[in-house]
This record gives sequence, C-alpha cells and structure tokens, in this order.
Amino acid sequence: MSGIELTSINKAFGAYEAIANLSLSVSPGEFVVFLGPSGCGKTTLLRMIAGLEPVSAGEISIGDRRVEHLPPGQRGVAMVFQNYALYPHKSVAENMGFGLRNIGVDKATVAAKIQEAARILQLEALLDRKPGQLSGGQRQRVAIGRAIVKSPEVFLFDEPLSNLDAMLRARTRVEIARLHKRLGATMIFVTHDQIEAMTMAEKIVVMSNGKIEQIGAPMEIYRRPSTRFVASFVGVPAMNFLEIGELRSEGDGARITLGGHDIRTAVPTADLSGALTLGVRPEAVRINPQGSIEAKVDVVERLGEKTVLHTQLADGQQLIAEDVGESRVRFGDVVRLEIDPLRTHIFDGKGVGHHP
Ligand code: ATP
Repeated sequence: MSGIELTSINKAFGAYEAIANLSLSVSPGEFVVFLGPSGCGKTTLLRMIAGLEPVSAGEISIGDRRVEHLPPGQRGVAMVFQNYALYPHKSVAENMGFGLRNIGVDKATVAAKIQEAARILQLEALLDRKPGQLSGGQRQRVAIGRAIVKSPEVFLFDEPLSNLDAMLRARTRVEIARLHKRLGATMIFVTHDQIEAMTMAEKIVVMSNGKIEQIGAPMEIYRRPSTRFVASFVGVPAMNFLEIGELRSEGDGARITLGGHDIRTAVPTADLSGALTLGVRPEAVRINPQGSIEAKVDVVERLGEKTVLHTQLADGQQLIAEDVGESRVRFGDVVRLEIDPLRTHIFDGKGVGHHP
C-alpha cells in the first residue's frame, strides 16, 4: 500500500488563497480524516490529491511516484463522492464495472471484481437494479463498490455519509471502518462531522482557513487541543469557555476567581500571557453539593446514558455540566458544581491551548 506525501501545497482561486503552504504525511494503510468547517479547504485538498483540481504550487507523492502532473486515472486513487455520482440508466453491476471496462479490462475480470465487491458490501441481490430503485444507503454502497473494483492504493472519500439519515450514517461508518481493516488500503475521509472523525480516524487533520490547525490521534486532539478553534470544534456538547478574570499561581497550577466562584486548574501558569480563557468539557463539570460553583439550571437535556445540564453562573456566563443518566435535576434548580482541575485547559491571548 502507498503512503501520501504533500509538500508545500498552495491553491489559489484567482486572488483567493484556499490552501496555504500545507504539508502532510499519510502513512501506508492509514485512515486519515480531514476535519473542518465548511469552506476550510478540505474538499479542495482531497480533489488535488485525486487530480481533479490542479495544485497552484507544491508536490504530491503517492507511494514513490510524484503525481501532481498526472491525470486522475494514473494516480492509483479512487474517489467516493457525497452525491454518489452514479449513472442513472446503468444497473448496479454496470455502474461498478464501467470504469474498468473503459480502460480495457477484460469482461471476465470485471465480472469477478464486481462479484467480489458486491459480496463485501452485501450488494449481490441488487446487481441488476438501477440506482433509482435503491435506497440512499444502498446507492452509497454502490459508489463505494465502484471504488473497490478499481483496487486502488488510495481511497478518497468526500463527505460520503452526508446524505444518509442518522441511523444509516452510524452503520455505514462502521462498514467503512471494517472495509479499511479488510482491505488495508490507505484512506482519506473528508468530513465536517467531528463524530465521524473521532470514530473512524487513526489520525485527524483539523483544518481551518486553508491551514492545518492540528494533526493527531482522535483522543490526543480531544484531550490536548492545540488551539481554541480545535477545542471548540471537537466534542459534543462543545467545550465550555469561561473568561478568566483573576488567576493566582498555586502549586503546579492556579486558582481562578470567576464571578465570585473559586476554580482550581492544574494547568501550569509559567507560559500564559494575554487575555486568558478557561476551557472545560461538560463531562468534567459535575454536580457536587460541596462544589465551589453555584449555578442555575436553565435547560435539561436527557440523553438516556447521561443528562446534559445547561446552567448560568451569577455573572451571566454559561456553563454546561453533565450528570448521570437519571438525573434528579430539573429546570430552574440551583445546583452546586465542581470542575475537575486535571481536565481544565487554558487558552492564551493567541488562542493557543495549555494543558495540565
Ligand atoms: P465544504 O465542507 O463546504 O465542502 P470545504 O472545507 O470542503 O467546505 P472547499 O470546497 O475546499 O471547502 O473550499 C475552500 C474554499 O475555496 C472556499 O472558500 C470556497 O469558496 C473556495 N473555492 C472552492 N472551489 C472554488 C472555485 N472553483 N472557485 C473559487 N473558489 C473556490
């Protein structure tokens, strides 16, 4: 299997710089997710790897070949699109085999490859249907099947689950993860959905404004977000951010006074500068009768396995906390909350994350 090396990639659309001096290594067989908000450049980057979009500058290698000047068909990649891009008048089997027939692969080989892909994706019973006679999930499997028959070294997925409902999305996520294990191919998956990124990726590349904000394993990004942007983009419910008024170093961390409340953090203070923000994930804010924070509950979300409490502090700042599945807390209650100092983060004036 082939790794991918991007070196100093630039992409401009007229005067607009969509990708700025981006470099990235993807190991052979790795499952990498490009994660970022709409417009951050992740699709453009994927399309440049696929050869559907020329680079303005920079180098792309797939395996040991430089490919940035090669057409898509010679790069050894297969792409799966959000809208499936199936031919409506061709059957499922024809849709899957079309690309191979086009490049002159013989009929028997094409048929065998279609059978193999259909078996992996459980499409055997649907091979004679037209795309119009399939559900959205089945169409997506055909689109993946069309990629599999090409036996590419690299699979590129462009938000392939966006048009599926929540349940099917979750199932297809698992199917793609299985497929990756089974084929061992290098896969790049573009999404703005952080749950897809967290669950599928071996490595997440978080992007913003045409730049890489952070590269890391899912839990590394979750636990040690390098910037406030990454922290706010990963995790549901989102991380709480509280403006820090006063901060006094104490032991290995600090004591923060915040609207009359006393909060401890285990983040070392030596490198902190500028206007500081405390970051804490809702799961690290818990109900505790001895807790130092008093808050009023204004929304209660019961999710079954946990309850999400949206609260307001006396100074008007909002703090989301989590309680056990069958929380007794109700709308309007005044509760005491405790923050785990070891699970706090501080973002400095430049938005850079500091962790315990
Ligand atoms: P989304 O999740 O909405 O698809 P994205 O992160 O994939 O977003 P891109 O599609 O890569 O974003 O677009 C990156 C930026 O480049 C956007 O600001 C977009 O408007 C711009 N852009 C993309 N294609 C073109 C084009 N052909 N001409 C001009 N600008 C473009």
